[in-house]
Amino acid sequence: MSLVLSDVVLTYPDGDRRLTALDRVSLEVAPGEFTAVVGPSGSGKSSLLAVAATLQTPDSGRVLVGGQDAGALNDKQRTALRRDRIGIVFQQSNLLASLTALEQLQAVAHLRGENPRTAAPRAQSLLASVGLTDGKQHRRPHQLSGGERQRVNIARALFAEPSVLLVDEPTSALDHERGEQIVGLLAGITREHGTATVMVTHDKAQLSAADRVLEMVDGRLS
Ligand code: ADP
Ligand code: MG
Repeated sequence: MSLVLSDVVLTYPDGDRRLTALDRVSLEVAPGEFTAVVGPSGSGKSSLLAVAATLQTPDSGRVLVGGQDAGALNDKQRTALRRDRIGIVFQQSNLLASLTALEQLQAVAHLRGENPRTAAPRAQSLLASVGLTDGKQHRRPHQLSGGERQRVNIARALFAEPSVLLVDEPTSALDHERGEQIVGLLAGITREHGTATVMVTHDKAQLSAADRVLEMVDGRLS
C-alpha cells in the first residue's frame, strides 16, 4: 500500500473542549488506485488530507507513506518524505502570481535542488500532459481560467513523481463540464503514474471515474 491511515484521531482546540475532526479513520490506498471521499462541508475532508500529507500530526493512530511511519520521523525526515513522496493539490490555488505556468514547476525543481533550466523539458511535457500546451505555459495565473490554473496545480504536484497524490475539492470553482474533465484527468494520471490518489469533494456528481467512493460524515469514514 502506498498510503495507510490506521485508527487516526485528530482533534482541534474548541474553547475549553476539543472538536474531533477525524474519529478513528482507517484508509488504505494502493498504487494506481483512485479513491474519492465525499462528504459535506465540515465533515473532516481537508483534515483527512492534512494528516495523510503529514502536515498535521494526529492525536493517535498511524500514517504510513510508502511503508514509512510518518510518526516515527523527525521534522526534517518528515519534510523530506512529503517532498519526495506526496503531491498535494490544495483547495485554494496557491500558485505564485508573478510566475508563469512553466515557472511554477521550475520553482519546484529549484526547491528540490535541481537546475530549473535542465528541468524545463520535463516541466513542459507535464504541462502538456494536463492539456496546457505551448502558449499557455508562458501565462501567469491571472491569464489562465480556473480550470487551467487547476491543471497547473496538478502538474506541479506531479513534478516530484509522488507515489501519493492528495487532491482537495478540485472542482469546487469549476462548472460541471470542466469539473468532470478535471476528475477524468486525475483518473488518467492515477493510472499512468501509478499514484495512490485520494480526492475529497462535497460534489457527489463527479465520482464515476473513481475506483472507489468513501463517505465522510462527522469525522467518520465509511
Ligand atoms: P471539510 O474539509 O470537510 O469541510 P475540515 O477538515 O476543514 O472539513 O473541518 C472539519 C472540522 O474541523 C470542522 O468542524 C472545522 O470547523 C474544524 N476545523 C478545521 N480546521 C480547524 C482548525 N485549524 N482549528 C479548529 N477547528 C478546525
Ligand atoms: Mg475542506
